[in-house]
Amino acid sequence: MEKMIIVGTGCAGLTAAVYAARANFAPLVLEGHEPGGQLSTTTLVENFPGFPQGIEGPELIMGMKAQAERFGARFEYATVTEFEPAGGHVRLKLDDKWVETETLVIASGASAKWLGLPREKELVGHGLTSCATCDGAFYRNVPVCVVGGGDSACEEATFLTRFASKVYLIHRRDSLRASKIMAERAINHPKVEMVWNSAPVEYLTDTEGEMRGVVLQDTVTGEKRELEVKCVFVAIGHTPNTGPFKGKLDMDADGYLLQRQGTHTNIPGVFAAGDVADRTYRQAITAAGQGCAAALDAERYMSHHG
Ligand SMILES: Cc1cc2nc3c(=O)[nH]c(=O)nc-3n(C[C@H](O)[C@H](O)[C@H](O)COP(=O)(O)OP(=O)(O)OC[C@H]3O[C@@H](n4cnc5c(N)ncnc54)[C@H](O)[C@@H]3O)c2cc1C
Repeated sequence: MEKMIIVGTGCAGLTAAVYAARANFAPLVLEGHEPGGQLSTTTLVENFPGFPQGIEGPELIMGMKAQAERFGARFEYATVTEFEPAGGHVRLKLDDKWVETETLVIASGASAKWLGLPREKELVGHGLTSCATCDGAFYRNVPVCVVGGGDSACEEATFLTRFASKVYLIHRRDSLRASKIMAERAINHPKVEMVWNSAPVEYLTDTEGEMRGVVLQDTVTGEKRELEVKCVFVAIGHTPNTGPFKGKLDMDADGYLLQRQGTHTNIPGVFAAGDVADRTYRQAITAAGQGCAAALDAERYMSHHG
């Protein structure tokens, strides 16, 4: 029986691990399909406090992991495939074995949806991203594009007008599915140019491997053309990594875990932290803050339950 298992090694899981390890719980931390989480896929992070020159995403994550290990956190390359409450504690299936734990912190994050074009993975951080708040400021006075047609795409496009010389909002249909107010704000902005009935089919890079544009295909005529942009912001949604918990933990309609008081879920002893429960902020620092809160909630739960 473990005292505490933490699912995920993104900012939320690793911060929970630092706190739980310092409280002598020797938590077992599961790496899952993306060790280090979303930050391990990016380059410079300029908005995590304490690093005035910025810090590379993987370096920040490795530092958090080393800090947790120093206090006794144990890491395992394993993925949770099933979950079930079992009379006051919970059971988890990790690939091919079952483990039991008194408390569980779920910090399994959310995965950005991408377009599925060639070289996509290698271009993340080199002119391809899914986060305008994170990366918008890197693209000052250059043209960029946002791909999508919902509220997030409109919000990101409007936000990016603060930096970019021009923002193309690329949508595969001839009208946006965003709410009227968000759509109008984007469409009416002088720096935003709508690109209707179009979908990117290829990323174009310069000799250094940085984004220089996209090939767009007209979804009606099939015609192709090139569009010069320095960054592509993909805003077609996120998928919370909550598959193993479906039907057992309360979630919203899109599968984000619902927190009750603090980070408590509907099952006693099970806590949720970070992007897996946060569809609003989705930042490294907010995920880390929730990881801290979840570890403290779990610690208090254990002291109240002997
Ligand atoms: C390209 C990019 C750039 C970004 N840049 C910035 C930035 O500059 N500043 C900023 O503040 N934020 C940035 N973000 C956002 C930030 O990375 C996220 O908000 C943050 O990583 C969320 O942390 P998390 O721990 O909640 O989840 P994640 O980082 O998503 O980590 C989830 C973890 O859970 C694990 N996992 C998932 N399912 C399972 C399972 N079934 N079993 C076991 N483990 C599982 C995964 O392997 C992973 O380790 C960026 C995001 C992206 C995609």
